[in-house]
Amino acid sequence: MRYQSARMDQIPPYMFAELGKKKAAMIKAGIDVIDLGIGDPDLPTPAHIVDKLGEEARKPENLRYPNFSGHPEFRKAVAEFYMREYQVELDPETEVLALIGSKEGIAHLVPSMIDPGEIVLVPDPCYPPYRMAVLLAGGSFHNMPMKKETGFKPIFADIPEGVLAKTRLMFLNYPGNPTAASVDGSFFQEAVDFAKENRLVIAHDSAYNKVTFGDYKAPSILEAKGARDVAVEFGSLSKTYCMTGWRIGYVVGNKEVIRALAVYKNNTDTGQFTPIQLAAAHALRGDQTCIEDYNRVYFNRMKGMVGALREIGIDAEEPKATFFIWAPVPPGFSSAEFSAAVLEQAGVIVTPGSAFGPSGEGFFRVSLSVPSDRLEEAANRIKKQNKLRGDGRDKDVETLR
Ligand SMILES: *Cc1c(COP(=O)(O)O)cnc(C)c1O
Repeated sequence: MRYQSARMDQIPPYMFAELGKKKAAMIKAGIDVIDLGIGDPDLPTPAHIVDKLGEEARKPENLRYPNFSGHPEFRKAVAEFYMREYQVELDPETEVLALIGSKEGIAHLVPSMIDPGEIVLVPDPCYPPYRMAVLLAGGSFHNMPMKKETGFKPIFADIPEGVLAKTRLMFLNYPGNPTAASVDGSFFQEAVDFAKENRLVIAHDSAYNKVTFGDYKAPSILEAKGARDVAVEFGSLSKTYCMTGWRIGYVVGNKEVIRALAVYKNNTDTGQFTPIQLAAAHALRGDQTCIEDYNRVYFNRMKGMVGALREIGIDAEEPKATFFIWAPVPPGFSSAEFSAAVLEQAGVIVTPGSAFGPSGEGFFRVSLSVPSDRLEEAANRIKKQNKLRGDGRDKDVETLR
């Protein structure tokens, strides 16, 4: 008997599931483990958004099947957001589609666009669902290595001609997970020009578009000249408004791509609960000061953790956006060895960079989406661990118990 398809056989165990097992074993052994592995905001959804959900959920007409492409008010609110933030005009009917979280749209975009045997370009390292969606669609992916020296941007000229000939789609993600890297508009123009030249579509994931620090403002790919011919942009309320559990996102941009995805979705799901869509529209239109407040919290956490990492000799840089720190492991460690050492010696989970692709080797990711006091405790424990310096010195190592 076979219980799953050959396509399913290609899917490796979910990386966070493995980390979860290790964590559970340590907790059982009485260790106070601090998990800096998963990016899921600890901060609450602002009250005015939760209140709106309650209000809309009490209206019987909102409890029936939702509109297939998304509630008109939600799609309009997304278009208003693009006008306000980027001066990009979108037609809510044809250029905006509601999603059950952006991950859902990312996963369904691939089979709605590519056929088996075709190639999808993915950043390396990247958010794992890009690669998994390609495997589930029977396609293959080509990793675009992103190096620290080039600001964690792919070098388009390095993609082999033979690969490009079979490529239909390219994923990009800035501000990026896991690298926390950010770009300016000129990079998106370069990407759009490259996509046009090579007749491929760009799917830009902007999940962290509003999780930014100081003066930095993350551009939209739709600001680039000609972007609408070749690009779609995924967006999410998950990170901006601390709404990960609500499952609401959107995709905007190229009409043809959006139409194909809408057809795929109409035959797969029936859209998100209307009160959630209306609460999300309220989030996009309402008071935005919550975003600044959240970003200030992440910024302070980031400063504290970067400081702690530098104290043990790790060359961590301060990101301009996202709630991640992406830092090189000390000399003498692989990513996996370093993560294991941090867990064993400090009781802290950090994600090995190699979990995000081969070019993630030599790095690790720290997520700042945990309460500040726990993060401080994690930073203090890491600072005390001389063994983590990577030079093998074995002095003053404190035990956890
Ligand atoms: C969190 C995250 C998402 C998922 O967002 P949802 O809208 O909650 O599905 C998408 N892309 C990246 C890079 C993320 O980190």
